[in-house]
Amino acid sequence: MIGTVCHSIEIENFRNIPSASVTFTEGVNLLHGDNAQGKTNLLEAVYFTALGKSFRPVKEAELIRFGEESARVVNRFSDSVRQQSLSFRLFAGRGHRIVEQNGLKIGRMSEMVGAFRVVLFCPEHLSLIQGGPELRRSYLNVALSQLRPLYLQSLQRYSKLLKERTALLKRAPEDMATFKATEPMWSAQLAHEAAIITIHRARYVSQVNDHVRACFSDMMTKYEGGDELPELTYQPTMGSEWLESHRDDPDLFTDQHRLEERYLELLTTRHDREIGAGATLWGIHKDDVKITLNGRPARLYASQGQQRSLALAMKLAEGWVSAYESAGDMPVFLFDDVLSELDAHRRDYLVQEMKGRQVIMTACDPAAADFGGAVNLIHVDGGRYTQKEV
Ligand code: ATP
Ligand code: MG
Repeated sequence: MIGTVCHSIEIENFRNIPSASVTFTEGVNLLHGDNAQGKTNLLEAVYFTALGKSFRPVKEAELIRFGEESARVVNRFSDSVRQQSLSFRLFAGRGHRIVEQNGLKIGRMSEMVGAFRVVLFCPEHLSLIQGGPELRRSYLNVALSQLRPLYLQSLQRYSKLLKERTALLKRAPEDMATFKATEPMWSAQLAHEAAIITIHRARYVSQVNDHVRACFSDMMTKYEGGDELPELTYQPTMGSEWLESHRDDPDLFTDQHRLEERYLELLTTRHDREIGAGATLWGIHKDDVKITLNGRPARLYASQGQQRSLALAMKLAEGWVSAYESAGDMPVFLFDDVLSELDAHRRDYLVQEMKGRQVIMTACDPAAADFGGAVNLIHVDGGRYTQKEV
């Protein structure tokens, strides 16, 4: 059994796709065609059914085909237990959507995210090591939201609370009375959600770390030589001195009460600095994942090739941990234009790793999917999809 499999996707008026029904096979599926035809759009529709949002920065209404009132995406998929369906209807203007899982209406996204799991790999992810911390936070958020509904709930609550508290900080110089009266309530709730998120992130990073090390060593041994060892460490924003003084405490990141107390302390005793900055300065929205190679920062020390191998290892690790947490069911891998960005060795490695998994990928050139086996070729032209099996 291959794990989670997307069998078909039906689309109406999503992006440049007027109407489409595309079937996928269990192995490799390649969407190929010229630029701007709708390859990424279809991948985006599949991703949308997993996370309830796009991987591109876009307003929901922009996902609806220009000039249309609503869009629909239906994903029929299975895991090792059962066949399922997820259906989304998006409406222009009203900012409202109807979501159904197996024909039953879903009220909150956290009830459905995780039913259909994906690992997306696109060129932007090749900057996971070199890029800013928001890329690594997003890596954690996308992976953890699919694994733990409680994580997603906390994250959604945290984002709302953070907005409120930050607005309050910005208004504080003019309205100190309101700030003093309401800040304790926002900070207490924020600290509570931050502690929950911290526990999940700390555990996830240590799980991913094991797989990244194994994948990276494997790639190095096979292709490049060298025995450098990577290490991923969760870096929460809780004050470096405080973290240092708790460095040897193995229970720190499982003790919700203590983490919450610490966040609350930070949020209630440093108001001058926060009001000066007009921003909430401590919390999970500032977190990072430290990535080192033989103890040195990979961002500065690792070669370009090693950074790419690390990014690739992080994506593969995301799949492994997802499978581990879901009774062995591998998620579906979505590769947007990424194979052409990898050199021959890393491409070979990825191809080997994808054996026995479902992959839906995009590329201009149909030869891109040289996976040494059958490939479901889907030609994309102006939002229309033509399939022929090879
Ligand atoms: P590339 O090879 O360059 O990555 P692609 O085939 O992946 O191309 P997509 O990103 O899937 O291209 O599709 C881009 C096209 O979709 C663009 O021409 C864009 O104008 C169109 N498009 C995007 N959003 C909408 C929308 N809401 N309605 C209609 N067309 C849209
Ligand atoms: Mg594209």
